[in-house]
Amino acid sequence: MVNQEILAGYCQQYLRVDKFDDYCPNGLQIQGKPDIKKIISGVSANQDLIDAAIDEKADALFVHHGFFWKNEASEIIGIKKNRIKALLDNDINLYTYHLPLDAHTTVGNNIQLAQRLNIKNPEPIGDTLVWQGEVETTLSKLSNTIEQALNRVPLVFGDDDKSLKRIAWCTGGAQSYIEHAININADCFITGEVSEQIPAIAFENNIAFVSAGHHATERYGVQALCQHLSQKFNLKCQFIDINNQV
Ligand SMILES: [Zn+2]
Repeated sequence: MVNQEILAGYCQQYLRVDKFDDYCPNGLQIQGKPDIKKIISGVSANQDLIDAAIDEKADALFVHHGFFWKNEASEIIGIKKNRIKALLDNDINLYTYHLPLDAHTTVGNNIQLAQRLNIKNPEPIGDTLVWQGEVETTLSKLSNTIEQALNRVPLVFGDDDKSLKRIAWCTGGAQSYIEHAININADCFITGEVSEQIPAIAFENNIAFVSAGHHATERYGVQALCQHLSQKFNLKCQFIDINNQV
């Protein structure tokens, strides 16, 4: 068991939250009961995940995508009211970690994805959110590896036979960061989503591009974080995957 404030303080330090200028508050976003024994993790704080956490009698819910984004309306009405009311009525703490959880070098989404795709020597590119590493494969083989690891068919742009050695990736909706991959002469850039202009940008820069799913590429950081917390504080923890095709 751990107190909610102690857990928030620990995560703040462990994930180096103060280093990030983010689009949402990181940490305890909704305050619930003080003592925490059981935590549920999931990618996004939507109603299905909250309902599942209630069914599981969770004391805390940990997510990558929480509430209170910079550009969203600040009123608490409609589905936002429903989600927040469900958490408050059930005394469930909501902890959200966004960019700090992408970047962390042990439990972060990017390092966790690299481990699942057997990418060697993974490291961030300078002070960007994009990572680089080494593989010895072809585009079609990488596509198969991704499909098996993430249980999702990726959208792939480039020649099947293209040989890949240097690879760059950034989990989530990071398609506009393809520039960082081009700058280091990567053979391929993997991210979660794709936009209309990306296939041409990739083709003209002779770089393969893989859209492997925003949700699918960001399942692993929050799971790794909660496994770490469960060992550290002797908590029960469970990951709940609410299917999302994007
Ligand atoms: Zn995301």
